[in-house]
Amino acid sequence: MKRLCFRCGAEVPAAEEKCPACGRKHRDNFITRTKDLTDRFDPAETGGNKLLCVLSYLGVLVLIPLLSVKSTDYVKFHAKQGLILTVATTLYVVVMNVVSYLVRAAYGNYVFVFLGLGLYAVLFYLLFLSVLGIIYAVRGRAKLLPGMSVFFHADAEE
Ligand SMILES: [Zn+2]
Repeated sequence: MKRLCFRCGAEVPAAEEKCPACGRKHRDNFITRTKDLTDRFDPAETGGNKLLCVLSYLGVLVLIPLLSVKSTDYVKFHAKQGLILTVATTLYVVVMNVVSYLVRAAYGNYVFVFLGLGLYAVLFYLLFLSVLGIIYAVRGRAKLLPGMSVFFHADAEE
């Protein structure tokens, strides 16, 4: 997917923060402004093994790209990111169930309705990140998901 300048429409290379034509700073929303690390990998590897990359974001199936001898460094990027997301989502579901149980026991179901909406909003956000990871994998990009830069020595997300 090409990054296009919002002001003048020129193509902004993935590594550039500013439009080479007009200098406008490239700015997306907090979901998409993460670092794209595709340039770190062998161009012959990126875009290949899409199935293995997609499996990285499908729960326990992440074990397949993690353990496969066919996995390139590029595939391992998605496997690592998918593993972190899977662990985070699993831990969150455990915490969510404990909190739900305690709040229901203490305050009843009516109070829980409001808290429950918030709890599920976070869960849907985590699931949405998995979908986003799949989209990046299908496009052959090693793009970080929000919050992942700390795990990949990729500095701040700006
Ligand atoms: Zn421009």
